[in-house]
Amino acid sequence: MTSETQVVIVGAGPVGLVTALALARSGIDVVVLEALRELPREQRGAAFHPPTLEMLEPFGITDDLLPLGLRIPVWQIRDKEEGVVAEFDLGMLAGETRYPYRFHLPQHHLAADVLARLEREPRAAVVFGASVEEVKQDGERVEVRYADADGRFETIAARWVVGCDGARSAVRKSSGIDYEGFTWPERFLVTNVDEDLAGEGFAETSYVADPDKWAVILRLADPRVGNLWRIAMPSDPDLPEEAVLAEDYAQDMLRDVLGRERNCKLVYQSTYRVHQRVASSFRNGRVLLAGDAAHINNPIGGFGLNGGVHDAINLSEKLAAVCTGADCALLDLYDRQRRHVAVENVQRQSIRNKRLMQERDPGVRRQNIDELRTVVRDPELARSYLRDSSMISSVAQAAAIR
Ligand SMILES: Cc1cc2nc3c(=O)[nH]c(=O)nc-3n(C[C@H](O)[C@H](O)[C@H](O)COP(=O)(O)OP(=O)(O)OC[C@H]3O[C@@H](n4cnc5c(N)ncnc54)[C@H](O)[C@@H]3O)c2cc1C
Repeated sequence: MTSETQVVIVGAGPVGLVTALALARSGIDVVVLEALRELPREQRGAAFHPPTLEMLEPFGITDDLLPLGLRIPVWQIRDKEEGVVAEFDLGMLAGETRYPYRFHLPQHHLAADVLARLEREPRAAVVFGASVEEVKQDGERVEVRYADADGRFETIAARWVVGCDGARSAVRKSSGIDYEGFTWPERFLVTNVDEDLAGEGFAETSYVADPDKWAVILRLADPRVGNLWRIAMPSDPDLPEEAVLAEDYAQDMLRDVLGRERNCKLVYQSTYRVHQRVASSFRNGRVLLAGDAAHINNPIGGFGLNGGVHDAINLSEKLAAVCTGADCALLDLYDRQRRHVAVENVQRQSIRNKRLMQERDPGVRRQNIDELRTVVRDPELARSYLRDSSMISSVAQAAAIR
């Protein structure tokens, strides 16, 4: 049997859920299909930038989340040999944003908050255990075929489908949209440690540059509650997964990266592959893409989750207008705006950040360090650097595209 709605969203990650909430609040009927049986709680994005907090504010989400996480105005770029190279203070942007800080909170808190709100929306339904296999469209509608929690195949028809189904997006593949880019050779090793790294001089967001053992360090827990920190590092591309996941390997890396003699209290570790890819289009007829389904990048800079939420807000405004009579060419503007910044801002900056972290040439490293020190000393250059790194520039640039 085929059921019908206005918009089907595939994937109940943070991007799909925010898109669904924004559409439902605009009076659009929306069904979210999620392959898992419940929301995942895995360790992924944990850093929110100022524009993301502004976009989530009208839904009441930002006020819900702020008491749960950490506000981090000051962050550092370090060199493993030289120590602190540059310290940036987002307080310099206090006149430009209501949230002049990075906000650290694991992303599953965002997803859980939005899901609770969706459950109270009469126009929204979230179906768990619904694994989408295929989308097929004609000029009028899209049919979405999925396997339900009992393995039975069902079809739902909609005027529009939004693929928010992550990097391996079945919606993107089924719509014949390429995912252009490359994959870095090394896996990233992600650890959580219970240590007082603030006492060792690390800012609550610290990037440590080194040709072999660079690291991204984020404080996850409120100091009043505990000392949980996330440390992401590269692993040797020639080692098998089991060797990278061995505790000794993580401890060796951590001692080196943190410059300490003793082991860390390791409470979590995992590895993942890192890609730089952007879909060749964010729209194919009645099918749209957002979040990791549309673009993916390395986590240095914290752009993935944030960029996905920016897609969700941009797209839901336009799609709600189209559903209530606006010209569907508005959806091409979504593609132009968000794809442009995915390529020009997020890909460019995240690739540059990774190269900065791992630079091998001593001359180029010295030049990078000198340039960063020049930026920090000049308030105008520092403000501009902060606007780019906190995604304020990318949101403004997208809005300027017509
Ligand atoms: C270790 C790590 C650290 C990160 N750190 C940061 C950070 O600090 N800041 C930041 O901004 N970003 C970060 N990111 C990136 C961030 O986690 C992602 O960009 C974000 O999760 C994307 O959200 P999404 O909703 O687009 O996709 P996802 O979160 O991947 O959600 C996709 C959903 O779709 C579902 N799905 C998949 N296929 C189907 C199907 N066929 N049918 C139905 N449902 C399906 C999945 O089960 C999943 O629930 C990090 C990522 C990793 C891995």
